[in-house]
Amino acid sequence: MQRRTIPMRNTSSFIQQEEETEPPSTGALSVTEPPLLNPSLAVPFQIIPQRIPKKPLNPTRIFRRRFFPGVSDKEWNSWQWQVRNRICSPAQLQHFIELTEEEKSAFTYLDTKLPLGITPYYMSLIHANPMDSALRRTVVPTVHEFFKLPGEANDPLAEEDQSPVPGLVHRYPDRVLLLVSDFCSAYCRYCTRSRMVGRGMMNAGRPRLERAFEYIRLHPEVRDVLVSGGDPLTLGDKKIDWILSHLRAIDHVEIIRIGTKVPAVLPQRITPSLVRVLRRYHPLWISLHFTHPDECTPESFKACRMLADAGIPMGSQTVLLKGVNDSVETMTRLVHQLLKMRVRPYYLYQCDPVTGTGHFRTSVEKGIEIIRGLRGHTSGYAVPTYVIDAPGGGGKIPVMPDYVVSKTDTEVTLINYENRIFRYPLVPESRQEGVSSGN
Ligand code: SF4
Repeated sequence: MQRRTIPMRNTSSFIQQEEETEPPSTGALSVTEPPLLNPSLAVPFQIIPQRIPKKPLNPTRIFRRRFFPGVSDKEWNSWQWQVRNRICSPAQLQHFIELTEEEKSAFTYLDTKLPLGITPYYMSLIHANPMDSALRRTVVPTVHEFFKLPGEANDPLAEEDQSPVPGLVHRYPDRVLLLVSDFCSAYCRYCTRSRMVGRGMMNAGRPRLERAFEYIRLHPEVRDVLVSGGDPLTLGDKKIDWILSHLRAIDHVEIIRIGTKVPAVLPQRITPSLVRVLRRYHPLWISLHFTHPDECTPESFKACRMLADAGIPMGSQTVLLKGVNDSVETMTRLVHQLLKMRVRPYYLYQCDPVTGTGHFRTSVEKGIEIIRGLRGHTSGYAVPTYVIDAPGGGGKIPVMPDYVVSKTDTEVTLINYENRIFRYPLVPESRQEGVSSGN
């Protein structure tokens, strides 16, 4: 179609103009030649001058301008810079946010507990709304960590008891969990492995990992290896390559999974060179750890896009946390964001009874309520499986709302997501053989 510029005038004889990509300039309007129309169909319309809304500054940019004015984009976007400049002490933390009494008290005892670690990037997300940030609760310690409730334990899932060699947990017959290091770029205050992460006691040294590879080699029933930690993606590309190449060289290892939180707390880590390493070891899956929709930033979207474009399927393992994500509304926003990031909400975990996590743990009814609020109300792909990881090492046990109201020999009565009752007719037992054989 030919385009021409016409002076602004009464346009009532036109019904439709091609949408402008630019706002109209004063006095002239660029339009597409209108189609010939029946004048009786013409509808008058007014041209309303468009205002282009100013793009709001992204909270990370505001934070950077205030606290890191001299830091270049190159430095900020370097994962090594982010790791080097982590917030690891109360004095550093106070530079960014005003601490509450509950937080200040925690630092008196912190030496005995999980260390503090927050990347500048993640701090920028907290800083956007410091006093009302769900993310703050996940990484800033409070005095509540120092209370032990009945039933809590340092190693509630009995991982140490199920480790035939240091750093390798063999709980299920056909899969193992390989803990490659105890370092994370940010430390989650509810961490199941708070007994060991961040203490520098489990490094990614060759002798220990070679023992773990040897164990896997000698157990042909192991077809699936979950590489976790700590966070394995905080290792350098060469070390990750070395680990994955050794696992891939074992014939009976069918799939490799990596458990990581870096796309949420350190998305800068997902670099083209890391992606090149990872894509060499397919079938490779990644389990991510997102807890709140505020973590789903443009940076995280980009990191997940790079991984998805490399053909890596991703699932999110979200821990249900009081005061962070324990509402249907927050969880719905999170799972919708995850699907847009091409991440399948995989598990919703009841928070493990780790020592000092009482302030994070919700009732089990809350988890069931959340699943009930998702199932049927949104895409099936958005609904994770709610599980309790059985204390003592019993593995993950799904917990679900009960949709079966009653059952007889002839029918099952079910309740749907709108609380409407439906009946499903059963094939009488006496008829089952004949039906299945086609008689
Ligand atoms: S990233 Fe994982 S291993 Fe690290 S502190 Fe958080 S929950 Fe624990």
